[in-house]
Amino acid sequence: MTQEDSIANWMNHQQIGGKDIFAKAYSWELYDQLKNSGMYPYFQALDENQGPVARYQGREVLMLGSNNYLGLTTHPLVRKAAMDAIAHFGTGLTGSRFLNGTIKLHEELEAKLASFLGQEAALVFTTGYQANLGMLTALINKNSIAIVDRLAHASIHDGCRLMEGETIRFPHNDLKALEEILKNIPEDKGALLFVDGVYSMEGDLGPLPELVALAKKYGARIAVDDAHGLGVIGPGGRGTVHHFGLQNEVDLVVGTFSKSLASIGGFVAGKRKVIDFIMHFGRPMLFSASLPPASAAAALSALEILIREPQLAERVCKNAKWMKQELTKLGYQTGEADAAIVPVIIGDSIKTFMIWRQLLDEGVYTNPVVYPAVARGNEMLRTSYLATQTQEQLDRALAVFAKVGKSFDIVK
Ligand code: PMP
Repeated sequence: MTQEDSIANWMNHQQIGGKDIFAKAYSWELYDQLKNSGMYPYFQALDENQGPVARYQGREVLMLGSNNYLGLTTHPLVRKAAMDAIAHFGTGLTGSRFLNGTIKLHEELEAKLASFLGQEAALVFTTGYQANLGMLTALINKNSIAIVDRLAHASIHDGCRLMEGETIRFPHNDLKALEEILKNIPEDKGALLFVDGVYSMEGDLGPLPELVALAKKYGARIAVDDAHGLGVIGPGGRGTVHHFGLQNEVDLVVGTFSKSLASIGGFVAGKRKVIDFIMHFGRPMLFSASLPPASAAAALSALEILIREPQLAERVCKNAKWMKQELTKLGYQTGEADAAIVPVIIGDSIKTFMIWRQLLDEGVYTNPVVYPAVARGNEMLRTSYLATQTQEQLDRALAVFAKVGKSFDIVK
């Protein structure tokens, strides 16, 4: 097997190992090979990460690989809110929301989220991943079907494995294929169409108005995971659903606090009765401990800042748009991105890792993404932008892209 093939098989461990379940671990050599060649790009420990600039192995690097879109993880008010919450409540809640793990702070955060998004109610989970699992396990039983875009986030696909009903996947943004599926939903089954607002690797938006129209035509409900739209696009950073003016049409919105809202945690928002149901039937809500006070307080404080300073969202988009334009001018392929994420498409895994290494050596941190996280041929450096990056920092990053691109014959 070539190294390119073993990278391609990275996430597919069915072929590795023998009868002893540990054999796969002992026969898997890719990690050691990449590490020994200095090309292993993942689990890189940063010494410090203060937003636009981080420290890596004692050196300053420009951070083009973070989801801290509004730059609020280091905001004095957000830090203070988290510290005050620890002082008041302690460090953990040691129980699920269902039992001893709910505090008023969760409810305050839920009320603020619901009102920000123009929804009746919201429900806070411990991660965005769990929010997707919770919503799917609650709503999709044996009598229902989830219809999911193939490039939707892994947590949606994992939720589909965990729930009891059937899953049907359709090719990314393919409205014709989707309509064929919707047409054939049996009369006695309900369906939920589940898509991302902004796709997490490619940074493109789905055709939400057309998706909503199709869902309605065939009597399906529609949910949007807006992890990467919230705080970035739409009026006041209200996300993809508001960007298209569909807040009264989309049934459920899922979001996370691990990006614009400078914390960790997730939520589902929608009609009160549906949220009440998810609260009682979503397995991660019942069987995993609740969001810690510091995380809830940080997310609430970040949301309050976004409400007061909506220009932060505009700044993220301005920075990303400028970088996309300039990277394209240099000769890089940057896809259809339209929010804070700009993919720099390289097209094969080894070259992606080589360019990643050189950019990092020159002081620019990016995230290499290879198959199966993206389609073959779309192997990329995922770059993403923050409201708090200065023009000088972006200029410096671009100069590095120009230099590295020349040595790989991408930039003429
Ligand atoms: N949905 C999408 C689209 C995401 O990109 C992510 C995180 N990468 C999640 C859900 C999960 O969010 P969390 O980090 O809060 O678990």
